[in-house]
Amino acid sequence: MLASYHNHSTYSDGKATLADLVTWAKEHQLGEFGLSDHLALHPSGEDPEWAMPRDQLDTYVRDVLHQQSVHKDVLQIRLGLEVDWYEGAEDRISQALGEYPWDYLIGSVHELDGFTVDHTSAVWKKLTTDQIDHVHLRYWQNMRALAKSGLFDIVAHLDLPKKFGFFPECDLSTEVNLALDAIAENNLVVELNTAGWHKPVNDAYPSESLLSKCFERHIPVTISADAHQPDHLLRDFSRAAARLRAVGYQQVARFVDRTTWFESIDESVN
Ligand SMILES: [Zn+2]
Ligand SMILES: [Zn+2]
Repeated sequence: MLASYHNHSTYSDGKATLADLVTWAKEHQLGEFGLSDHLALHPSGEDPEWAMPRDQLDTYVRDVLHQQSVHKDVLQIRLGLEVDWYEGAEDRISQALGEYPWDYLIGSVHELDGFTVDHTSAVWKKLTTDQIDHVHLRYWQNMRALAKSGLFDIVAHLDLPKKFGFFPECDLSTEVNLALDAIAENNLVVELNTAGWHKPVNDAYPSESLLSKCFERHIPVTISADAHQPDHLLRDFSRAAARLRAVGYQQVARFVDRTTWFESIDESVN
C-alpha cells in the first residue's frame, strides 16, 4: 500500500492546500496520506515564517481530522506534525502537543545555536573549516538529545547539514554513533527522505553509509518525500526502496495512533 507521511501544506511552507494534497493522493491510489506541517516553538517566541503560527495548531488538527472523516472510505488520512527540536524545549514542546490524537510526530533539527542549517548556502560559505566542523558536531549532539527526549516517533532528514555540500573535516564518528544509539534505544524510526536528491548535495537523507549504521542497530525506516506540492508526494519512492534494499532492509514502518507496524518494501512502493 502506498503511504506518504512527511508532507507540508499551506498551513506551513507547502504550496498547496490540504484539500489539494488529499485530491492528488486519492487520484494516485495512495492508501495512506499523512500531513506533517511545521511547528517550530522558537526560543525567541516568534514563529519562523516557514512554520505555522502556534495559535493555528488547533485549527490545523481540526482540519486534518475533518478531512480524515470525510475521506475515510477511500483514503486513510494520518495526523502528523514536523516539530523543531530546540535544546531545553522539552516541556514547551510537550505542552503544545497536548492531547491531540497524533498518528506520528516527526522530530527535526533545522536550527542550532541560532544557525539554520538548511536555509541558504550563503551562510555556510561564510564559515571557516573549524566552524563547519562545529555546526556538524553540535547537530549530532542535538540529534542525540532529540532522540532521548522521547517526544517523537520519526527522525527527519537525519544528515540534513550536508544539504549544501559543506561536510565536516574532523572525525565525528563518536557523536554520530551516540546519536544513532539513542535513536535505537528510544525506538525511533528514521526516514529515508528523498528530497535530498533534489538539493545541491544530490543525495537522499541519510547517506547510504549512515543508513547501513541504522540497519546494524535494527533501527526501522520509512520512506518520505518531504513534499511541499502534490506531485512530489511519491517522488523517488522506487529509488528510495532500492537504497533500502541495498543495505539490507526488507520492511518499512507504518504509523497509526502513535503505534508502528511493518509492511514489506515491495508492497509499500507498488
Ligand atoms: Zn524538515
Ligand atoms: Zn519537512
